[in-house]
Parts: sequence; C-alpha cells; structure tokens
Amino acid sequence: MKLAILSRAPRSYSTQRLRHAAVDRGHEVKVLNTLRFGIDLSGDEPDLLFRGRQLSAYDAVLPRVGSSITYFGTAVVRQFEQMDVYTPNTSYGIANSRDKLRATQILSRHRIEMPATTFVRDRADVIPAIERVGGAPVVIKLLEGTQGIGVILAPELKVAEAIVETLQSTRQNVLIQRFVKESKGRDIRALVVGDRVVAAMRRVAQGDEFRSNVHRGGSVEAVQLDEEFERVAVRSAQIMGLRVAGVDMLEGADGPLVMEVNSSPGLEGIETATKLDVAGAIIDFIDNQVAFPEIDVRQR
Ligand code: ADP
Repeated sequence: MKLAILSRAPRSYSTQRLRHAAVDRGHEVKVLNTLRFGIDLSGDEPDLLFRGRQLSAYDAVLPRVGSSITYFGTAVVRQFEQMDVYTPNTSYGIANSRDKLRATQILSRHRIEMPATTFVRDRADVIPAIERVGGAPVVIKLLEGTQGIGVILAPELKVAEAIVETLQSTRQNVLIQRFVKESKGRDIRALVVGDRVVAAMRRVAQGDEFRSNVHRGGSVEAVQLDEEFERVAVRSAQIMGLRVAGVDMLEGADGPLVMEVNSSPGLEGIETATKLDVAGAIIDFIDNQVAFPEIDVRQR
C-alpha cells in the first residue's frame, strides 16, 4: 500500500518506528508535515495540496496530530476522509478525544467507568461541585492539557476553589475530578489497535508526585492486563472512533477507571517497556483495512 504518515516530527521515535515498520513490510511510505497541506475546496472533487502541489494518490493515512494543531490537523484528516483515503483515526475521533470534557461526556454516556467528574462555570458552583465528587483532596484539570501539565492535586477545599477561580479568570476551562487515591500514583496505558490491546504498561509516579506521566519522571513497566481492563480499553477506543489509541486507566477499587483516550499515542515508552513491535502491529492493521475494508459507519 501507499501510506502517508502525518507528522511534524519526522525524526521522533514514533514516526521513525512507524516509517521503518512500513518500509520493512514492503510498503511505500511518506512522512508529510501536517502544516504543509492546503485544503482545496475549489473544484468538484475534494482535493489536497502538499507544499503547493497536488497530492498524489494514497491508500491510507496515519495521522499523528499534535494537540497544538488540532484544528488544522483534523481539517486535513477530514479532507482525506472525503477523498476516500483510509484513516484508522477519523477527524471526528481525534477532535473528540482531544477535549477532556467532550471525551468524558461521550464515554460516560456509554457507561464507561471514569473518576467522578464535574464541570462548572460560575464561582458559586465551585465548592458544591468539589463536594459532589468527594471533597478535597481533589484533582483539577485543564481541558486541553497534555503530559500532565495542567493537572493539579488540590489538598484543601479553599485551595481548590482558589485554583479553579484563578484558572477560570484567565479564560481556561477546568474539570473537577475525584482524586483516585487507591491508584497510588500509578496508571495503566493500554495500546489499542483495531479491536485488541497489543501492548500495555503501568506507569508509576516518582516520589510524592501523583502524576505518572513519563514527562514528569514516571517509570514504566510491562503489565499483563486482566480481561476487564482489556475490555474497557478496547470499548473506549471504539466509542471514541479511534482504531489506534492509547487508553489511560486508573486502577480503582472496583476496576478500571478511564481517564483519557489518546489519538496519537507515543510508542517509545511502551515499546521499550514491553519489547513488543507496536509500530508493526499498527502498520499491519492499516494494511489489512486497506485490503479488506470493514464496514464501519463511523468512517462516514
Ligand atoms: P494528561 O493528559 O496531561 O496526561 P491526565 O488526565 O492523564 O493528563 O493526568 C495525568 C496523570 O495524573 C495521570 O497519568 C495520573 O497518574 C494522574 N491522575 C490524573 N487524574 C487523576 C485522578 N482523578 N486521580 C488520581 N490520579 C490522577
């Protein structure tokens, strides 16, 4: 197949691994900088320009759209969809998963267990909202944060209220979420490809940090997921319309609690921790979809 990888970081571990996995399997692959596309809406047929010239024909596109370019990146992916080029992650799935509130709304509608979460705007509603999710300590999250930035553990009610008010005064939208103490600074990342978990790891926060992100110094270890975690991870990715996803879950007292479904999961941590060929699994899945398209209403 002829595959385009949309990425602004051609030299990053994930992009390199995906490119090599495709080349090793005999595919033609190009890494294209997402920001160099032009969306051409002038003709009868949907078209894309790349570096000012008409894009050649591709069988599939693998979008790796960073959070700073969600709007333009998803518009490019949408254009590929309209040109009937296969993408494992639709523009709709990427946009929905990027916004923590919207993702939480969609997943909770489908009865995916998540930490109790609430969202308010008026200052008079802040304290009751915190109390509703179990009181302090409480987690406060910026709606579009990544890598643990914008995730705060507020120890007391008054401090939590001040943090929410301060963030709101700078026009930031925030979520208020129950602090899942029992997960003890650990979380699970399951890499979903198609309808299965191809690799999973546990991330453990460093010292007294509660955020287990690798960017915050967290360490990683391979983990064999039990069935419930696998089932929840796959369902969450399916609900979000993502065929390649990193699903983050906390280990709650009664089972998995989904925090986030990531549409451009990094491969370095998980491949290093598990020694598994995740990039190869992604390329094989796309190849299979191009050869034997599954009937999937979310693609349309
Ligand atoms: P990001 O998208 O920035 O990674 P997350 O929502 O995944 O933000 O949170 C970052 C980390 O903080 C998680 O990996 C987890 O370790 C910790 N964390 C997030 N929410 C909670 C919570 N409700 N209870 C306990 N720990 C949490």
